[in-house]
Amino acid sequence: MKITKAEFIKSATQPEHFPPADKPEVAFAGRSNVGKSSLINTLLNRKKLVKVSGRPGHTQLVNFFNINDQLYFVDLPGYGFAKVPKEVKDAWGPMIEGYLANRPNLTAMVCIMDVRRGVQEDDFELIHAAPHFGVQPILVFTKADKLNKQKKKQRRIDIANEFGVHKDDIILFSSLNRTGVDRVWRRIEELTGL
Ligand code: GDP
Repeated sequence: MKITKAEFIKSATQPEHFPPADKPEVAFAGRSNVGKSSLINTLLNRKKLVKVSGRPGHTQLVNFFNINDQLYFVDLPGYGFAKVPKEVKDAWGPMIEGYLANRPNLTAMVCIMDVRRGVQEDDFELIHAAPHFGVQPILVFTKADKLNKQKKKQRRIDIANEFGVHKDDIILFSSLNRTGVDRVWRRIEELTGL
């Protein structure tokens, strides 16, 4: 998709503050520091629309972006960071559930993991919860530039086996060299009908 407009609309924690559900929506989720902000910026060809975090786990807001007046991108707060205060951690689940349950226009969730670390328990939980809300997960493994060709190939097969899916359903990504950008966009376009 050619990006002509990518603008921040608002941050919210409560469903009543979400923008109207009047366009297809794609959410982005992942553990803190996984490379979620970098991935969104890379998809949109923007350097710093989404701030690349110096303080992992700090953001606990649901951030809405308008893409081309055609689509919403939603940056969900990162999870799984050990140093976050307990009350912030405890607030994550209900906030995400409130979000998933209140966005009928949400069709896809880009679930971002680190290709070297693979799938953690909290990733699995979210990936398995998504279809119950009518949301298709797109499985993306970032920082692929950190592995050589041989290792990348093997990781993709191992990860596909772990999920019980075809290896073509596993997207390897890199914000440094733009590996996987086209494949993520293709899945987004398929799932949102754009
Ligand atoms: P977030 O907390 O998930 O939003 O992660 P950020 O996008 O802020 O990235 C966390 C750190 O990982 C930063 O130091 C980034 O420069 C680095 N990073 C993000 N994506 C990549 C990638 O594809 N390759 C490499 N090598 N580093 C990355």
